[in-house]
Amino acid sequence: MKKSPAPRLRAVAALALLAPLLAACGDPLGGGGTGTGPRVVASFYPLEYVAERVAGEHVEVEQLTAPGVESHDLELNVEKTAAIAGADLTFYLRGYQPAVDEAVEQNASGSVVDAAEVVSLHAAEEEPGHEGESAEEHAAHEGEAGDPHFWLDPVLLGEAATAFTEQMAEVDPDHAADYRANLADLRADLEQLDADYREGLTGCELDTVVVSHDAFGYLEKYGLTFEAVAGLSPDVEPSPAHLAELEDLIRETGVTTVFSETLASPAMARTLASDLDLETGVLDPVEGLPADSGQEDYLSLMRANLRALQQANGCR
Ligand SMILES: [Zn+2]
Repeated sequence: MKKSPAPRLRAVAALALLAPLLAACGDPLGGGGTGTGPRVVASFYPLEYVAERVAGEHVEVEQLTAPGVESHDLELNVEKTAAIAGADLTFYLRGYQPAVDEAVEQNASGSVVDAAEVVSLHAAEEEPGHEGESAEEHAAHEGEAGDPHFWLDPVLLGEAATAFTEQMAEVDPDHAADYRANLADLRADLEQLDADYREGLTGCELDTVVVSHDAFGYLEKYGLTFEAVAGLSPDVEPSPAHLAELEDLIRETGVTTVFSETLASPAMARTLASDLDLETGVLDPVEGLPADSGQEDYLSLMRANLRALQQANGCR
């Protein structure tokens, strides 16, 4: 099973060779498409959605996380690293995808918009699996960045969109008026979505929601409480003590449904649901588009989530 390291080495060598070219002519890989327009890179789907809505008529937005890929642990190949190196504007979220953080730090030569600098992220809640650690031990491995999943609050996504638009207007002043007009349209849609959530989640029989990974904290502003089987990242395994606590909570609150999600493995959530004889539902953290997304976009996925929550929690 020993695999040759050659492709990776070759990739690194190729990047080294490209470096002067990148500096000299900007677009040796042709990854940006249009040739003359600015090159924009967005690191995962909700940021790509914003970039497309604001700038898509004038630039080709390159996305680093392909549909169907779990975005937390994205790895970058040489093309994607080169895309960051050659981008006029990179839109990303520091603390969410470590490979992107590193590539931006080491390779980005154009403008950068870090959504984590624009939006005030919620403090990360205690992740399951860390019971019994001292505060010091916990602080040592807890990201200082906070809960990254801010795009689930449409208002916060609007704030990130505004910062992106201002930077876009600097990078490409000729089209600044278009970018600002597109931003106004986008913000109107996001405000409508926020209003629909507010109204749609009023008067629910239940306010507790059990989900597979701790991605939904930003929806708590609508009056719900989210309890996660796993941590902020879907690959953090829950401890037996945490699972027992969740079971108690489910019995006490009368929760009917355990939600898993489209891209991360639902095994743990399924086991819990079948142990307790509950329904399973799907709630999408909108970290990426599903591979077969068809016409789905940020707004339609968020609305599907709203309907699923209303149904599970008996909202009228
Ligand atoms: Zn997540």
